[in-house]
Amino acid sequence: MRVVVAGGAGFLGSHLTDLHVARGDAVVVLDDFTTGTRENVAHLASNPAVEVIAADVSAEVPVSGSVDRVYNLASPASPPAYLERPLETLAVGSEGTRRLLELADQSGARFVMASTSEIYGDPMVHPQVEDYRGNVDPIGPRSVYDEAKRFSESITMAFHTKRGTDIGIARIFNTYGPRLDAGDGRVVSNFIVQALRGEPLTVYGDGTQTRSLCFVADLVAGLAALGDADVTGPINLGNPDERTVLEIAETILALTGSSSTIEHLALPKDDPTRRCPDISRAIEQLGWRPTVQTEDGLRVTIDHFAQLLGL
Ligand code: UDP
Repeated sequence: MRVVVAGGAGFLGSHLTDLHVARGDAVVVLDDFTTGTRENVAHLASNPAVEVIAADVSAEVPVSGSVDRVYNLASPASPPAYLERPLETLAVGSEGTRRLLELADQSGARFVMASTSEIYGDPMVHPQVEDYRGNVDPIGPRSVYDEAKRFSESITMAFHTKRGTDIGIARIFNTYGPRLDAGDGRVVSNFIVQALRGEPLTVYGDGTQTRSLCFVADLVAGLAALGDADVTGPINLGNPDERTVLEIAETILALTGSSSTIEHLALPKDDPTRRCPDISRAIEQLGWRPTVQTEDGLRVTIDHFAQLLGL
């Protein structure tokens, strides 16, 4: 197969690229390197099966030749990253998605949309099932990401119904692992870096809000399974191991053996109070479920950051 991974130099995209390279596929990585990094794909630089193209897909998709599959992971994904780039986030979710759908449609390729649990907003239904329509403030700060992803689901479905484009939509829940950006502000990377440096762990609000953390290897295996399947979705991908943010902080303190304290900072506006995927559909339709225990995945991630920080 020849696979296009938009956002292929990002956290998830680079792991997905590795997965396809390991399968013997050729991969075209498209990335504008605003949040993706050269380091994430540096180990693939001399691999003839991998082509890295610097491009902003909201402006152009410079891919020629045959294409069998297109994954759309092009978007800032961390709240501080998308809040800093509201217009770019809206552009890549809308125009970027449209351009990538055109490529898939013209190539006869399958298109996999990396949507998000954020489309459920601050959910009134728990755990979140795919039929739940969400609770998003359309003009709130997080809407630039939430609504961009909601639009991307909508246009993906419109290509499917109107043009018959082969599509699959994944809704990705919080994911962590090696290559998370140490500075992008997400909970796992923040807490691990703070714990390793002996700095206070910054818990936003009282820390009773919940997240369910999925290890990156599990998540990209789910994305590839959706790519391989004849399933439209949307399909939740995540690990239903739900924990409060305070529990996540305490687990990371225990695993690192850090003597850092916990400091409470203001809760960001519209921060969802709880989040946990119902993954029945993924189990049933993809035969996929996460296999990595949270503590095991966190240990691997801690080792990665310890190495990165030279500790
Ligand atoms: N969070 C926190 N401290 C941090 C970073 C995040 O308490 O240093 C909280 C944040 O308020 C949210 C959860 O951890 O409730 C997950 O945040 P993240 O930015 O990783 O992703 P989100 O699920 O909000 O997109």
